[in-house]
Amino acid sequence: VGAILGASEVSAPDLRCSFTLGPMMRFLLIMWLACVLPAQTLRVYHVDVGQGHATLIVSPTGSTCLVDGGDSAAGSGVLLPLLGTLGIGFLDHVVLTHFHTDHWMGLAEVANAGVGIGTAWDRGNQNVGGGVSAYLAAVGNARSTILPGTVIDLGGGCTVTCICVNGQVLGGAFVDPSTGSQEENARSVGLKVRYGNYHEAIAGDLTGGGFGEPDVEALAAPVLGDVDVMVLNHHGSNTSNHQPWLDALLPEIGIIPVGNGNSFGHPHSEPLIRMLALPSTVGLYRLQMGSSNPGGVAVNGTLLIESDGSSYTVSGGSLIPATFTVDEGTGPQPTAGLIVGDVVVSEYMNNPLVVPDSDGEWLELMNTTQDPIDLAGFMIRDQDNDAFMLPSLTIPSRGYVVLARNATSSQNGGITADYQWPTGAFYLANASDEIEVVTPTGKVLDAIIYDNGATFPDPNGSSVERRDLQALPLASNFGEATSVFGAGDYGTPGVGNSLDQTGPFVLLTVAGPLTPGSTATFIVNGGVPAGSRSYILGLSECAEPGIALPLSGRVMDVCSTPLLAASIALPGFAGSTNVFGIASAQLPIPPSPALTGLTFHMTGIVVDGVAPEAVLAIMDNMRLEIN
Ligand SMILES: [Zn+2]
Repeated sequence: VGAILGASEVSAPDLRCSFTLGPMMRFLLIMWLACVLPAQTLRVYHVDVGQGHATLIVSPTGSTCLVDGGDSAAGSGVLLPLLGTLGIGFLDHVVLTHFHTDHWMGLAEVANAGVGIGTAWDRGNQNVGGGVSAYLAAVGNARSTILPGTVIDLGGGCTVTCICVNGQVLGGAFVDPSTGSQEENARSVGLKVRYGNYHEAIAGDLTGGGFGEPDVEALAAPVLGDVDVMVLNHHGSNTSNHQPWLDALLPEIGIIPVGNGNSFGHPHSEPLIRMLALPSTVGLYRLQMGSSNPGGVAVNGTLLIESDGSSYTVSGGSLIPATFTVDEGTGPQPTAGLIVGDVVVSEYMNNPLVVPDSDGEWLELMNTTQDPIDLAGFMIRDQDNDAFMLPSLTIPSRGYVVLARNATSSQNGGITADYQWPTGAFYLANASDEIEVVTPTGKVLDAIIYDNGATFPDPNGSSVERRDLQALPLASNFGEATSVFGAGDYGTPGVGNSLDQTGPFVLLTVAGPLTPGSTATFIVNGGVPAGSRSYILGLSECAEPGIALPLSGRVMDVCSTPLLAASIALPGFAGSTNVFGIASAQLPIPPSPALTGLTFHMTGIVVDGVAPEAVLAIMDNMRLEIN
C-alpha cells in the first residue's frame, strides 16, 4: 500500500532552497527574472479563410508554421495581409494536410507572392493527381515528405508532431486510404501541437468511416490522445469527427474552419451535437456560420489562441476573450470541480396552455451531486442571444430550483418559482430552441437542443421532462409530463418528474481523518432500492474530466493512471454491497509528512450484478486532501 501514495513523495516540492535565500532575496530574484525573460507565449491563428482551412502557428521564439492556406484568393486576400501585420516575411515551415484546393491554393499564392519558405511539408507523391502542379511549382525545392513521427521543432519548447499521413499512424496502425470514397481526405496529415501542457489537434479533412470512406480517425485518435483545442476535421462534416475520435481527444475547445454559403452544408448537425454532448467541451466556435445547423458560436473572423503552456486565451472576431486552464494543469480548477451533468435541465415548459407564454414559461434545474451548489454567476442561455445570469441561489443536493419568466403564482399557471429571470432576457421558443447551463468560468454542464418535434417531444400545455437525470440530453431521454399541476397544465415543477427513470444515486463518504499514518475508511451506500450490487472504486490524481463510460455516456472523474490501477486492488475497493446496500473500503496512508497537502480524487461505479456492462450509477467525485 505504501507504494501507492509513497510514489508521490518523489514529486513532493523540494524546499531546500528556502534556507539559502531569504524572502526578500527570493522576491527580488523573481522580479528580476520577470524583467529579463521575454514573454513565453505560443500564438495559434485559426485564420478565417471562408470555406477552407489555414492555421498559423507562431512559437514563443517567433518561429512560424503555416498549416494549409485556404482556397483561391485566401492567400492574397487574407494570409498576406495577416503575415504583413505580424511582420512575418518568411515561414520556417509550411504543412499541407492534403492536396485539395481549399487547403493548398492559398499556400501557392503566399509562396508566389515572395514569402520565403524553409520547409514545405506534404504527404508525398502517392496517388497525387495532376491538378496540384501549381502548388508543387510554387514551393519548389522547399518541398519535403512528412511521415508519422516527424517532429517539427519550433523552438522554445513548442513542437508539431505528425501523428498520421496516408492512412499510416504513428506506432504502426494502417488503413488503406484508397479503398474508400474519400481517398484524398483519408490521406490527410494529422498533427499534434504541443507547448507545455497546451495541446492542439489539426488533421485536415481526415475521415472517420461509416459513409464508405476509410476510418483513419479511430486508429489515430488513441495515439493523438487528450488535447485542449481541436480543429474539427473536414470543416465539421459528418464523415468525420466521430465518437471514438472525440472520446480520445476530449477537447475543451472545438474550432470549425468553415465558410458561409458552402455547398456541402458544413458544419453538419451530427458533429455539432456530438461535440456539445462531449463531457469535456467548454466552447465550440465556427470561424464563419456556414450552414444554419444549430450549435456553437460564429466568430466571424480569425480566432487567436495564446498560451503560456498552462492556460490559454481565446479571442478574435466577435468573441469576448476568455481564458481557460489546460486540462492537465495543477492550478485551481476553474469550475471548482463541477463536471458535465452535475447540474442539468430536468424539465422545461416552453408552450403552456392555461396561461400565455409570456407568463407561463419556466425551466427546472436539478443538482445530481451529493453536495449543495450555489448557482451565483451561473448563466442560462440559448445558442443565439438569449441569456441571463443567476444570483446567489442554492440548489440542494439532488434537489431542484425552478426559474420562471413570471414568478407570480396567480399569473404563471400555478407554479412556485425560485427565481424570475429579467424581462426580455430569455425566451423558450415553441418551435426550436436551446437551453444551456453554464458555470461562471464558461463550462457548459448541460445543453438541450429541442427541434420543433422532429426528435424531441413538442407538447402544448405540458412540460418536457428528462427521464434519466444522470444521462445525456438526447431526445430519447425526454418525454411529455403525465401529471397535472397548478391551473391545469401538465408538469412537475420543483418536484420529481412523472417520467423519472433515474437509477439509484450512490453515496460515498469518508470516515476518519486523512493524515499520514492513518487509515481512512470509505463507506459506499448503494442507494434505494438496496441489496447486493457490484461496485468498483478508484483513486486518481488527474484533473477532471476523466473516463466517459461508453454505453451510458456518463463521466467518471478518474483517469487511467497507475494510481487507479493500484487502488482498485486495495481491500474493499471492488466487491459487492451487502443486503442493505452498504460496503466499506480501507485506504492506509503511509506515515510520510511529505504527503501533506497532496490532493487526489476518488470515485466509483455501481453495476448491475447480472449485466455488468449496465452501469447503474456513478458515485460523485470526492476531492481528497491529505492534511
Ligand atoms: Zn477541405
